[in-house]
Amino acid sequence: MAQEDLFRKLVAHCKEYGYVFPSSEIYDGLSAVYDYGQYGAELKNNIKKYWWDSMVLLHENIVGIDAAIFMHPTTWKASGHVDAFNDPLIDNKDSKKRYRADVLIEEHMAKIEEKITKEVDKAKEKFGEAFDEKKFRETNPRVLANQAKLDEVHTRFAKALNDSNLAELKQIIIDNEIVCPISGTRNWTDVRQFNLMFSTEIGSTADGSMKIFLRPETAQGIFVNFLNVQKTGRMKLPFGIAQIGKAFRNEIVARQFIFRMREFEQMEMQFFVQPGTELDWFRHWKELRMKWHQALGFGAENYRFHDHEKLAHYANAACDIEYKFPFGFKEVEGIHSRTDFDLKQHQQYSGKKMQYFDPERNESYVPFVIETSIGVDRMFLQIISAAYCEEELKKEDGTTDTRVVLRLPSYLAPVKLAVMPLVKKDGLPEIAEKIVHDLKFDFNCQYDDKDSIGRRYRRQDAIGTPYCITIDHQTIEDQTVTIRYRDTMAQERVKIGQLKDIIAEKVNIRSLLKKL
Ligand code: ATP
Repeated sequence: MAQEDLFRKLVAHCKEYGYVFPSSEIYDGLSAVYDYGQYGAELKNNIKKYWWDSMVLLHENIVGIDAAIFMHPTTWKASGHVDAFNDPLIDNKDSKKRYRADVLIEEHMAKIEEKITKEVDKAKEKFGEAFDEKKFRETNPRVLANQAKLDEVHTRFAKALNDSNLAELKQIIIDNEIVCPISGTRNWTDVRQFNLMFSTEIGSTADGSMKIFLRPETAQGIFVNFLNVQKTGRMKLPFGIAQIGKAFRNEIVARQFIFRMREFEQMEMQFFVQPGTELDWFRHWKELRMKWHQALGFGAENYRFHDHEKLAHYANAACDIEYKFPFGFKEVEGIHSRTDFDLKQHQQYSGKKMQYFDPERNESYVPFVIETSIGVDRMFLQIISAAYCEEELKKEDGTTDTRVVLRLPSYLAPVKLAVMPLVKKDGLPEIAEKIVHDLKFDFNCQYDDKDSIGRRYRRQDAIGTPYCITIDHQTIEDQTVTIRYRDTMAQERVKIGQLKDIIAEKVNIRSLLKKL
């Protein structure tokens, strides 16, 4: 299936099955804002739990906080967001569509890279075992020409970003003949800077209101509380502070569903370390975070690191973890070595010392910080795109049928088991209800007695329920039920009394955390 088709179907599926709805849909929605439905909210909670436990539960030296969304406006002066949290925007005069200039160039580079990959894949297929990829890349004229083109754009682009040279960004777009995907023309405006922070007012106008911002990242709530946590928790370096919370950005380009939203949620952890040790910790956290992603079992080949070309003003190393979405490899998480920039800025703007007294070195200093920052919503999209699957099934009469199944890892699935009486009589519903009643304290269970058993299975497949329990007449005789597995569709007869243990072993997040 073409990747665009897959993505379109995925978005429709999320809506149809209660995962994600457009926000205020009855008023035609609000661009780049979404609501999570009954299953989406459960999945989101499970993702957050996986992250929180992996940070706070598994690390003695990491604690979690929950800071407010509103912060004193000077916070954002100090952090640099008021002056520098900008994206370069460009408009196409014909379609009147607005784009991020850097994204247009990055997409252009990705297309060139794709051409190279296609060429290599073709040759790989042709030459089989004997294929020497390194040599091919060094000698094939088409690959070389494209690589040279890519390198040239790359160098210019990195320099333009580093110099904040907006005219050069536009020139790169013109020189590379990048067209608007809607109008197909190259009729571009100049590139301008656009600040992404939302603002509002606090207090009534009578007693003098104050302009404040909706936080564009959760990290600053951690920095301003650094000493509060360090002192009250008697934390010793190195230690981390984790937080999950909403963030807001007035994104210029709001496409790709929940990949880029204006209101979203972040899971961030700031790890405070001794100056000079930060690059070792940076490598450590890069590896640990990659492990966290790959433990979900969606295939190591679908993840990669992407080191940053342009380091933010506060960083001395930065990298993204990218996942292969249906629309290409894209960032899911950022890992940044933020030096002592933020704490020093807050020290300067607040006039309060933001230093740590190191008892071993018998001196005070401002710690350095490694940050891991991941979007809950983007992680949600990653999981759901990896899990969505359309399968051809052979029926007994020889015809084929398709089933849509969400192959969610059991620990993350919103509903863990559905309990179904085969028929709505002979006491079977009562047994099913009793099973739900007994198991609902441990798992999210659903009772379903509508439609044929086959249709009920399909409904559960579509929302990703890993286990279906069916009660039939044999249950009355021997207290056994069938357990049907979502992925293999295999069925097994087990005693009712065993259900809790069987399911607990498979859905408990402990086994996932133990992989880390
Ligand atoms: P991008 O380059 O995609 O705009 P970014 O580099 O600005 O992202 P960070 O500031 O590093 O992103 O934010 C950390 C994480 O927060 C990202 O890796 C992503 O998962 C998430 N995130 C950032 N912006 C958004 C958004 N608008 N919608 C959803 N998630 C977001």
